[in-house]
Order: sequence, then structure tokens, then C-alpha cells
Amino acid sequence: MNYYSSQISKLIEELSKLPGIGSKTAQRLAFHIINMPEEQAVRLADSIRDAKQNVHYCKECFTLTDADICPICKSPDRDHGVIMVVENPRDLAAYEKTGKFEGVYHVLHGAISPMLGIGPGDIKLKELMARLQKDVKEVIIATNSSLEGETTAMYISKLIKPTGIRVTRIASGVPVGGDLEYIDEVTLLRALEGRVEL
Ligand code: ZN
Repeated sequence: MNYYSSQISKLIEELSKLPGIGSKTAQRLAFHIINMPEEQAVRLADSIRDAKQNVHYCKECFTLTDADICPICKSPDRDHGVIMVVENPRDLAAYEKTGKFEGVYHVLHGAISPMLGIGPGDIKLKELMARLQKDVKEVIIATNSSLEGETTAMYISKLIKPTGIRVTRIASGVPVGGDLEYIDEVTLLRALEGRVEL
């Protein structure tokens, strides 16, 4: 790509590292950015830097936030005795969009996958168990219905069962292998309402 100036090539190269962006799209985006009004391009660059510098995991639920504790964990209106366990912040957002879940969340940041070498120590499981020391009535496992999601659900349920805390799994209204983030709100709600005891 040395027929472009080195700075354009650099921009194209960085953009093409993003997921789902091939070299053609990266070129198109790079030229789009170069043709932007300067203040718009600066805003884009600033927002990337600010997000990267200020966004981190909530100390309580491990979702992404720019505060110490995220607004959901901080809210006195939420039921802190009901914890929904999800694989990633996008799944949390999917359930939050339904506006019907009144508990709080726990974000695992992944799922157990022996094939990919991801074990229980690689996701935020210890952190979940630590939260159960507080007054928790129910843990709703809302990991994806993929092999990894199911493996993780079984593993968590076995860990929690001896504590006497109620453990449930969202119903199979969620299609097998389906990623929560792509599922419509009605199906998500039905899955939550039809949750089963583990
Ligand atoms: Zn939180």
C-alpha cells in the first residue's frame, strides 16, 4: 500500500485491525476520516482516547463503566439480592434494554471453553463467589446457549448449590447457539420469566 502517503497507510492499517473491517472498508473509512471537518476527526480521536483511558470494570459487577461503581450497582431502586450472570457487557445491555429486569448483574467476561483453553480461573467467577457472601437470594445464569455457555452454567450451578442460594437458568426461548445480544426483547423477557431451577 505504499502508493499512499505513509500516514494514510498507517491509518488504513490501524483501521483494518478492527473486527469486521477488511482492507477495502479500512481504505474507505480512512478517506472518509481524512475528508471530515477537522473538529469532527478530532472528536473521534478524543472519544477513542477518553474511552480507553477512563473506562474500566465496575468494582462490583465488572461491567464497563467510567465510575468506580456502575449506575446499576449504585442504584437503590435495583434488587441487589438478585444477580443475573452474563458473559459480556453487550449481553447486559440486551437485558437492560428490556427495562424489566430489576436485579443487578455479574459480567463474567467470557465463558469456560476447554477447547480454547479458557478455564474457570480465566473468567470473573471468583469475583461472583465473593459477591455471594452478601445477602443474595437468587443467581440467574444467563450465559449464551452455546456449548461454552452451557458448560459455564453447569459449572456455576455446581459451585453455588452448596451455599443454599437459589440458582436458575434462563429458559430455552433463546435459540441454541444464540448470542444474547442479537435476540429481540420479547424473547429475552420470555426466557427470563420462564427460567428454571438448576
Ligand atoms: Zn456494576
